[in-house]
Amino acid sequence: MWKLVVFLVLFATGATLVAACTLRWIASTNEYFWFALLGGFVLCGAASGWVIMSVRCPHCGLKLSLFTLKTSSADQVVTQLLSLTTCPRCNYDPAFQPGPC
Ligand SMILES: [Zn+2]
Repeated sequence: MWKLVVFLVLFATGATLVAACTLRWIASTNEYFWFALLGGFVLCGAASGWVIMSVRCPHCGLKLSLFTLKTSSADQVVTQLLSLTTCPRCNYDPAFQPGPC
């Protein structure tokens, strides 16, 4: 689940940059304004794309973050994702490995 932590940190950084621009903590006349705004958006987008592509079931390849996104409401996605212990599709349990079958 370290990937989720990295994602949250990246996403928070990106969101903070966007917020800094929209809330005018950084003046729009500042030469770094557009850089920060675009950088924030790119960081959020890249973090989302990366977490969707990388958090998947090692057994059947189900994209767990996309699956959680579809099956639970937006405010519960992260908690839902963290509470997953087995794959919702194939029931693969990373903590329980009986060996190659
Ligand atoms: Zn699976």
